[in-house]
Amino acid sequence: MISSYDVAIIGMGTMGSFAALEVIERGASVIGFDRFQPPHSFGSHGGQSRIFRVAYPEGSGYVPMAQQSGQLWDQLGERFKTKLLHRSGMLYMGAAGESFLGGIQESARVHQLHLENLDAWEVRERFPAFQIPDQYAGLFDPVAGWIDVDASIQQAHQQLRLLGAEVVLNTPVLRWHPDGAGVRVITANREVRATKFIFTAGAWTGPILSELSLPLTVRRKVVTWFEPLVPELFAEGRAPVFTFPENWLYGFPIFAGRGVKLAEHLGGLDIPNAGDPIAVPDGSDIDPIRATASKYMPQLAGPPPGGAARLLDAITCLYTLTPDENFIVDFHPAHHQVILAAGFSGHGFKFAPLMGIALADLALQGQTDVPIGFLGLSRFLGQASNIRL
Ligand SMILES: Cc1cc2nc3c(=O)[nH]c(=O)nc-3n(C[C@H](O)[C@H](O)[C@H](O)COP(=O)(O)OP(=O)(O)OC[C@H]3O[C@@H](n4cnc5c(N)ncnc54)[C@H](O)[C@@H]3O)c2cc1C
Repeated sequence: MISSYDVAIIGMGTMGSFAALEVIERGASVIGFDRFQPPHSFGSHGGQSRIFRVAYPEGSGYVPMAQQSGQLWDQLGERFKTKLLHRSGMLYMGAAGESFLGGIQESARVHQLHLENLDAWEVRERFPAFQIPDQYAGLFDPVAGWIDVDASIQQAHQQLRLLGAEVVLNTPVLRWHPDGAGVRVITANREVRATKFIFTAGAWTGPILSELSLPLTVRRKVVTWFEPLVPELFAEGRAPVFTFPENWLYGFPIFAGRGVKLAEHLGGLDIPNAGDPIAVPDGSDIDPIRATASKYMPQLAGPPPGGAARLLDAITCLYTLTPDENFIVDFHPAHHQVILAAGFSGHGFKFAPLMGIALADLALQGQTDVPIGFLGLSRFLGQASNIRL
């Protein structure tokens, strides 16, 4: 006999985990499938930590969502008795008056966010890890910080099991098809029926929803960890999350003895499919990161050109980008019982609990008060010309 659920979810990584949690907490039955065992490093959530920030030059619509998400992370941390959001603060550094800092400042002005303006001397005094030149400046956001990715997903899955959700791991969904008002979901050894179906398959979304020709690009990104020459300057409590304009290099204070994590938001090679073999990180990935680090953080990486820093680890991770780098959260245009959330474009993790609420709302109520109007699929309909409406 085929089991039936109120909601089935494909992809129990970042967004699927929090959508499932929200669904089951509202009393509906849920089954979630994942092709791996999250947290893992094959998709988009690998690499231990993610930045949480509220000033958002990428778009005004994200600011209220980030503020609400911050409260949700704080509440979840208390509930799970595990700190998930570390409000270490975030320091943006760059040449005074240039667009990199200007976009952050403008977002803060429009949304009346309190950011501290620091000149180069103040940055060096307060955060000696960062030896920026005199013509640079800093913007410090005291409510920003970073999220513990592994703890977040592990805690969500643990809670799901306690609440009776079915979480089926190491089991890819192979096919799905509409079944009357519901959906059939098929794996290698099982078929289930669900009233609603949520797609949170991250970098694998394009192929499994191929009928939509979604404008998604999968990009290989590299994340590194370095052992600083002076570790105490990069300790939690002493150093915030930080960023520099060169390729948007960003980094995190030392956590769990793993060194200082550094990565670049810009750059990276596009790959045809999430499941394709991915080149392991090499010098062409790591050298530019090391060079920028040594320019501004000699006590991490040694003086330029940055030969001294000891690389502890380097992994790859996948961005799933939309053309405008805004997310897609919407109903399937041809099947109202199917909801999709994809294209989180390298900045989605911070919103996961709020996306969970939005997805549960769409699945169980058919609408949501979460302000996701600007994330609708309709903005790409011209490009996805074979969508049936
Ligand atoms: C290097 C890097 C740095 C980032 N930094 C930040 C940051 O600082 N701040 C921030 O907010 N965001 C950041 N992001 C973005 C954020 O991590 C992603 O937006 C988010 O993790 C996307 O979540 P997801 O649920 O779409 O994908 P995932 O978390 O990858 O989940 C998708 C899941 O679907 C599963 N799946 C796929 N196909 C199937 C199938 N057929 N059957 C079953 N399961 C399937 C996969 O195994 C996977 O577990 C970063 C991303 C990367 C790669």
